[in-house]
Amino acid sequence: MQTPLPEPDSGTQTRHALHGQYPRAETVDDFRHNLALVHERINAACQRVGRDPTSVRLLPVSKTIDEAHIRLAYQAGCRLLGENKVQEAHHKWQAMQDLGDLQWSVIGHLQTNKAKLVARFASEFQALDSLRLAQTLERRLQSEGRSLDVFVQVNTSNEASKYGLAPDEVAGFLQALPRSGALRVRGLMTLALFSAQPEQVRACFVRLRELRDQLRQQAPANIGLDELSMGMSGDFEIAIEEGASVVRVGQAIFGARTVPDSHYWPSNERTE
Ligand SMILES: *Cc1c(COP(=O)(O)O)cnc(C)c1O
Repeated sequence: MQTPLPEPDSGTQTRHALHGQYPRAETVDDFRHNLALVHERINAACQRVGRDPTSVRLLPVSKTIDEAHIRLAYQAGCRLLGENKVQEAHHKWQAMQDLGDLQWSVIGHLQTNKAKLVARFASEFQALDSLRLAQTLERRLQSEGRSLDVFVQVNTSNEASKYGLAPDEVAGFLQALPRSGALRVRGLMTLALFSAQPEQVRACFVRLRELRDQLRQQAPANIGLDELSMGMSGDFEIAIEEGASVVRVGQAIFGARTVPDSHYWPSNERTE
């Protein structure tokens, strides 16, 4: 099964245009093919703005995808997978212990009472948005003897329904983070506005980059702000044009999801 090439130079595409576009990947070859297409799109976006494609990390997002299909993706070369919900991620981690070098990035909102789980198995957490959560994670990581790369999630779309800190809260947040060192802040993460207007989507990505550039001048020494995690299947070219160093891509690799996105995001966000 070969997917049609989704417009390699479509810097104007948004998530809004995505519905039903990506067939399910069912074989290792399907995964290889889809990964190659995504890398082509990444390369084309980098070329437009004079960026080195190795400066963009592709994080495949495997939420809703079953173990058998994840194993195919692993055979096609995926070694770090993003999951929105920590329990789903934890089950998959347990089920695939035999794949010793498969690592997990939790990219969705985390309740403080589930910090313990993330501290146990995740290698990256991209949705840090409260001090209480940071303190709990730090404590749990210390007792597990582990460390964790984290991204601070920022609400760049000004939608009340979205998770993440308001842009003007981030500087104070970084100052107040625990200094003991199991949490390693790598950068910022955002979800763009769900919109058919590429310029509205782009504005969210620009806001995250400008915030990062401004924070860099005053951030505490142990806070890394090199990374910008932004862009998904429908809008990652725009994100790359605006400086993304991590793009989180699910459907363009695994195929369209049947579970509605409202299962993974605050419920009134997905309306058109
Ligand atoms: C699902 C998800 C993605 C990937 O979205 P796709 O449309 O499948 O590419 C990216 N980021 C987060 C936080 C997600 O929950």
